[in-house]
Formats: sequence, structure tokens, C-alpha cells
Amino acid sequence: MDFELSEEQQQIKMSVREFAQSEIAPHVMEWDESQHFPIELKPKLAELGLLGVIFPETYGGAGMGYVEYATIIEELSRVDGSVGISVAAHNSLCSNHIYQYGTEEQKQKFLIPLASGKYLGAWGLTEPSAGSDASGTKSTAVPTEGGWIVNGSKNFITHAIHGDICVAMAVTDKEKRSKGISAFVFEKGMQGFSPSKKENKLGLRASETASVVFEDCFVPAENMLGDEGQGFVNAMEVLDGGRISIAALAVGIAQGAYESAVRYAKERQQFGKPIAEFQGIQFKLADMATKIDAARLLMYRAAWMKDNGKKTTKESSMAKLYASEVSVNVCEEAIQVHGGYGYTKDYPPEKYWRDSKLCTIGEGTSEIQRIIIAREVLRQL
Ligand SMILES: Cc1cc2nc3c(=O)[nH]c(=O)nc-3n(C[C@H](O)[C@H](O)[C@H](O)COP(=O)(O)OP(=O)(O)OC[C@H]3O[C@@H](n4cnc5c(N)ncnc54)[C@H](O)[C@@H]3O)c2cc1C
Repeated sequence: MDFELSEEQQQIKMSVREFAQSEIAPHVMEWDESQHFPIELKPKLAELGLLGVIFPETYGGAGMGYVEYATIIEELSRVDGSVGISVAAHNSLCSNHIYQYGTEEQKQKFLIPLASGKYLGAWGLTEPSAGSDASGTKSTAVPTEGGWIVNGSKNFITHAIHGDICVAMAVTDKEKRSKGISAFVFEKGMQGFSPSKKENKLGLRASETASVVFEDCFVPAENMLGDEGQGFVNAMEVLDGGRISIAALAVGIAQGAYESAVRYAKERQQFGKPIAEFQGIQFKLADMATKIDAARLLMYRAAWMKDNGKKTTKESSMAKLYASEVSVNVCEEAIQVHGGYGYTKDYPPEKYWRDSKLCTIGEGTSEIQRIIIAREVLRQL
């Protein structure tokens, strides 16, 4: 067992940290205030290989594994969770669905531009009436000459507006319920496929979250992704990888908030000394550090298992559940350490706290993670 990143992994971590510090940190609050989605970062993210982290170089990717991927998402999110979730949704949802289940032709056509950063990817499972219960998908795909006619909508979709490619699930056989849902690749500009309402969010405000609408949208037969009827099943497997990135998002946000609390505790003087000298504050910092470490270890275990070809349903959910709840708690404690100043936008914790909350909701809520973990635990014993 080895708990250390290799020298190469350490270098990746440091180069992403430097990138986040120089290219993202100066704009964080301005992007947050205005809900500006920083599409201008795309070429820079692509240059560093961050839009194709987990894909082989033959498909335009950086050829790294989930351990490196989690490290990268953590480092981006330590500075801005909005960029973290954007890179995560692009890599482990849209692009990975194509990598895992696409034909060679689909990988050539869609994965290469996605992984090399020419295209930005979106992934649509959630619908207005099918959130936690995604098997209740209502969007339909009806066969027609040469393809399918899709009608319906998806909401809360990351990159719904700027995405060039959207992988989305629709019902192809209602009778078969979850085994009657298929995945399709939608391309920007297809007639009848358009973005809709952009959400005005609590946190991660610089990430783009909007709806997409399908109105008699013709999708050619060659754009069906994976086998007919396997879209939901494959989506659940895609989420096993995606949840590792949400754990990394949560750990990064918590780490950023924790560091700001430590800095502040050393600077802020009350009763004639830095508040870091009070045991009440020290205990908070100790608990924060311990919880972040435990969350990070769960994240790395799931990432390591994924890299070693093991099934990670339980471990991904455990990492995602624990890290996201720790993140909200650590960010809240970071506000407390800052006192009244923590309640203002002049200090970082309030934004970290707003951002952290998504981690308990996206890619399956905490309640859904507990259902998954319990199902796996009961099956195993
Ligand atoms: C910023 C953001 C980005 C997102 N990005 C994407 C994306 O790119 N693609 C995508 O497809 N989706 C995306 N989502 C959607 C996200 O995955 C869903 O919001 C999430 O799965 C929950 O669905 P819901 O919002 O409909 O809540 P609901 O399912 O309506 O849940 C409401 C409450 O009921 C609880 N609940 C539901 N069922 C049960 C149960 N059986 N037992 C106990 N409690 C239960 C939930 O835990 C929750 O507390 C995003 C969401 C947000 C906010």
C-alpha cells in the first residue's frame, strides 16, 4: 500500500495548482457575481490536457488515470469549484460515455474533438420530472427512416448552452422501463435541439447550468450510443466514474475553505492574541483537517480501484457521499472561524460554502448515495 503520489503525479498537481492560481483565482468573485461562464479558459484547459484527462492519447486525450484526474479536479476546485465541475462534467460524463460505449466511428467523430478540447461536452440524464428517479425519463425517441425523432427536455444540464455535443437519454421502448431507455449523441445546430432556461444558482455560479429542449429533433441512426435499451444502464456505470470527480470537487472546495480558515486564524487577533491560539479554534481546525484527509483517502481509493479495473459502485458512492457532506461542514466551520467577516463577500468561505452544497445534490443526492451503498452492502454480506 502506498499513500503517496508519485513524482509525476505530484508535478501534475503542482502545475494545475499554478494554473488555477494564475488563470482562475484573479477572476473568481467577478465570475461568481455575474454568473459568467468562462468559455475563454477552454483553449488553456485544452493545452494542459485537462479536457481529455482520462482518455488515451490515440483519442486526443492526456492518457492519465483516475488518480491524476481526481487530483486535477481537486486542485481546480480548491480555487474555483465552477471550473472543477465544468471539467468534471466534460470528462467523466459526456466524453466518458462515448469512450466507454461508443463505436470506433463515434470515438473518431466525437471523442477526439472532445478530448483534445476542440468541443465542449454536455450530458443529459435529468428531466423536470425525473431527477433521482432517472428511470422515469419521459423524453421519447421514436424510430423513423434513417434514425429517430426525439421529443422532450432535460434540465440542470452543465454546458447546455456552450456544449458542442450533448449525450442524452430518451425512451425507445416504454414497456421495458429502465431497459427501454437509450443514449444518443446530439450535435449543436441539429434542427429541433436547443438550449433553454439558464439557472440562477446559489453556488458554482460560473458553471453553466441550463435546460435543453428536443422538438421533433431528427437524430441519425449512427448517433445512437451503445446498444438500444442500454442507455440507462450505461449511464449508471458512467456515474460510477463521475462520482469520483464529485468527491474530488468536494475535497478541493473543502481544502480551499480550510486553508483560508487557517490563514485567518493566524492573523485575527482577539483578547490580545491570534484566535489560532484558542483551543476552541484549534479543535475546529483539527476536525476540518481530519475530515478532509478521510474524504481524500476515500476519493483516492475509489480512483485507484477504477484505474485497476475494479467495479467501484459502492466505493464511488461512499467517497461522493462522505466528501460532499464533509465539504459543506468544513466550509460552514470556515465561516465560523472568520466570524462576521466570514458572512461577507470580502472573504472566501461564503463562496466555498455556497459551492459545496451542490456536491450533496449533483450526480445523485446524499440520500441516493446511501440507497446505493446500502444496496451494495446488503448484497455483499
Ligand atoms: C448545478 C447542477 C448541475 C447539474 N448538472 C447535471 C448534468 O450535467 N446532467 C444531468 O443529467 N443532471 C445534472 N444535474 C441534476 C442533478 O443530478 C439532480 O438535481 C439530482 O440528481 C437530483 O434530482 P432532482 O433535483 O430532481 O431532485 P429530486 O429527485 O426531486 O429529489 C428531491 C429530494 O428528494 C430526495 N429523494 C428522492 N428520492 C428519494 C428516495 N428514494 N429516498 C429518499 N430521498 C429521496 C432527494 O434526495 C432530494 O433530497 C445538475 C444539478 C445541479 C444543481
